[in-house]
Amino acid sequence: MTLPSALLEALHASFAGDALSLAEAERLAYAYDNSRRNALPDAVVFPTTHEQTEALVRACRAHGVPLVARGRGTNTTGATVPVGGGVVASFERMNRILRIDPDNRLAVVEPGVLNGDLQQALKPHGFFWPPDPTSSPWCSIGGNLACNSAGPRTVKYGSPRENTLGMRAVAGTGEGFRCGTYTSKGSTGYDLTRLLIGSEGTLALITEATLKLTPKPSGLRTLRATYRDVGAAAHAVARIMAQPVTPCALEFIDDVALKLARDHGGDSVPLAGAMLMIEVDGEPDTLDGAVEAVSRAARGDGLDSLQVAQTAEETQALWSARKALSPAQRTISPNKINEDVVVPVSRLPELVDGIKRLAAKHDVLIVSFGHAGNGNLHVNLLPRDDAERERAHACLAEVFALVIRLDGTLSGEHGIGLVKREFMPLALQPSTLGLMRAVKAAFDPDGILNPGKLLP
Ligand SMILES: Cc1cc2nc3c(=O)[nH]c(=O)nc-3n(C[C@H](O)[C@H](O)[C@H](O)COP(=O)(O)OP(=O)(O)OC[C@H]3O[C@@H](n4cnc5c(N)ncnc54)[C@H](O)[C@@H]3O)c2cc1C
Repeated sequence: MTLPSALLEALHASFAGDALSLAEAERLAYAYDNSRRNALPDAVVFPTTHEQTEALVRACRAHGVPLVARGRGTNTTGATVPVGGGVVASFERMNRILRIDPDNRLAVVEPGVLNGDLQQALKPHGFFWPPDPTSSPWCSIGGNLACNSAGPRTVKYGSPRENTLGMRAVAGTGEGFRCGTYTSKGSTGYDLTRLLIGSEGTLALITEATLKLTPKPSGLRTLRATYRDVGAAAHAVARIMAQPVTPCALEFIDDVALKLARDHGGDSVPLAGAMLMIEVDGEPDTLDGAVEAVSRAARGDGLDSLQVAQTAEETQALWSARKALSPAQRTISPNKINEDVVVPVSRLPELVDGIKRLAAKHDVLIVSFGHAGNGNLHVNLLPRDDAERERAHACLAEVFALVIRLDGTLSGEHGIGLVKREFMPLALQPSTLGLMRAVKAAFDPDGILNPGKLLP
């Protein structure tokens, strides 16, 4: 697509100097994201104010040109790939922390602030923002909100949906608006804040966020439990979640993943049928009781070993298996298909059992691990050649069908983007999809915001 000259003029007027790039080399850098898909945008702009963002959306709308918001491009689903060309708005320079307000337990930030930078800034105040993707040093708050991204701590503290009070944004109409509150309670009309969270840049561009802060507990204990098989570990997850002490991490690793991690990470990784990594946090005088309660629930049929780390070095050693996993997978299959399905916790045993059967049926290497306390498993299909890649795609459709049968859903934290939208009709009724389309039309009547994503 060649941009209309009137649009180029409008872009030049709003984005002076290097805030607008038309050079092919730079456009190429914004063609990709972590999905490894790519499509070249026609222009890249770097907004630094809300007003500039409004002018940008209005100009793109006037010419019917696609506009794709971008944080740091770390998403896994192709959500920032500008499949229809047009303009990419990278929020990387709109990255100020505007206010940290411990009295009201909130922080106001621009969308380009990195998750890790925010956590560092909150530390001296004794607070944190709970959403904790592993990519935290590199991903932006705007991206976290737009994908509802999360990590291990979600089991206790929730995802961005539970940790965001309000926003300022610009709809696809070009109209700026505020939604939500600066208060910890609010019951004033529709909850547009939660609606924008997880909307993947298809409804509005977020220009400011008011985040709910949580006091950082001063104590943490780490436990590692190994089990005879994946079923025994999955049942233990359900027992742990059925008692009152909520762990702040409850991670599951299956036997295939453990073997892979051991091949790559060495003997410190245990050989077992499955493993749980468990963390509990709180004030130091409460921790012994919490560890005891969680340990009691972790014990049961099929438990092989249960260790509690006593020192920082032991904690690090216990996490070694989990840490060795990502590099290990990359050495096996550069074509990893990385899913993040989620089921109710009590149905985890059926999910892990079903995935084993599908891996055998399609003869595909699958490793499963992840945030079991939320029933959220990273199911990674690792095809090693073209034939296995074909089989992996057939297998994937059956994995999703299994998840839906178990009352689960397609994505727990990565979102839908480009790569999963064809599966949306599996998860949602036509009437639900119809309502989502109507919402999209209200925010973005001309369909200029991130076209080709999320909705089938
Ligand atoms: C090593 C690694 C580890 C990861 N670990 C995790 C994990 O543990 N948990 C997890 O959930 N994810 C994880 N991810 C995925 C990814 O980091 C998250 O999805 C992250 O939130 C994306 O942030 P980003 O700034 O890179 O956003 P981008 O990838 O740039 O954008 C993501 C989506 O947000 C939209 N968007 C961005 N900014 C705005 C804005 N201002 N307004 C409106 N829409 C916007 C984009 O259009 C796109 O749809 C990981 C990725 C990597 C590379």
